[in-house]
Amino acid sequence: MRYEGTVYRPPSEAESLLIQATIGCPHNNCTFCGMYRNTKFRIRSVADIKEDLLMARDYHGDKVRTIFFPDGNTILMKTDQLIDILYYAREMFPDLKRMTVYGSAKFLKLKKLNEFRLLREAGLTRIHSGMESGDDEVLRSINKGFTASEMIEEGLKVREAGIELSEYILIGIGGRERTQEHALESARVLNAFTPDFVRLRTYVPWKGTPLYEDHQQGRFLLLSPYEALRETRLLIANLEGPFELLSDHVSNFAPINGNLPNDKLEMIETIDRLLAVPENNFRQVDSRYL
Ligand code: SF4
Repeated sequence: MRYEGTVYRPPSEAESLLIQATIGCPHNNCTFCGMYRNTKFRIRSVADIKEDLLMARDYHGDKVRTIFFPDGNTILMKTDQLIDILYYAREMFPDLKRMTVYGSAKFLKLKKLNEFRLLREAGLTRIHSGMESGDDEVLRSINKGFTASEMIEEGLKVREAGIELSEYILIGIGGRERTQEHALESARVLNAFTPDFVRLRTYVPWKGTPLYEDHQQGRFLLLSPYEALRETRLLIANLEGPFELLSDHVSNFAPINGNLPNDKLEMIETIDRLLAVPENNFRQVDSRYL
């Protein structure tokens, strides 16, 4: 397998074979994100991707169970090319259980329901999607490239095609100014299309990004640990589900995990207990470890 630049993958794909299908991110414009800031976006050729899959088969044997195709927004690839790769991967690894890509609503909306159905048939089982917030004001300010109603529409479409959705919410991305709206609107949007997983991350300023500069200049006010926990509490209190909520990231102040709606009370009680711990016991991780 050949890799270019830093390869990012969700923690839930730690055991997966990683095959880069795209390099960089075709949006590359979110004000908080430093992942691909200096990388020129391109789509790798199907021939190169297949060659990597063949190399992986020679290296690992045919026992690979899960594959994640980085980099950012691989869902943007032409549907027939993606289908070609997915079928080839299944040929290489007959015991495959899961194949996944990144795809934000900006790129999900480029595909029709029928294309998602064909992708599901070819073996695309899950899409990791960075929603970050359901608040239009926050989405606009961070240049996410889609609105809350577009997120709902695309979420429903992907779910209707039978593809799992893993949605990422960024605690604190509304700053102090929009913490309430961010929590309440994110809950409203998630309840409207019920992804399979809601995964929480906490915003950490990343040097070299516009939002880092805003934070340095005092234009963006970062949440304190207690404020981040209160925002998480408000979000969870307003979530209906059904879905699994996970805090599977080093940036979070608390390991809040469970199934909604059943575990809601337990999760809220955990947060309340943490809010009784002195605030200086909580440490924010450095962006180098994200
Ligand atoms: S958050 Fe996702 S869509 Fe936004 S720039 Fe980063 S990789 Fe691209």
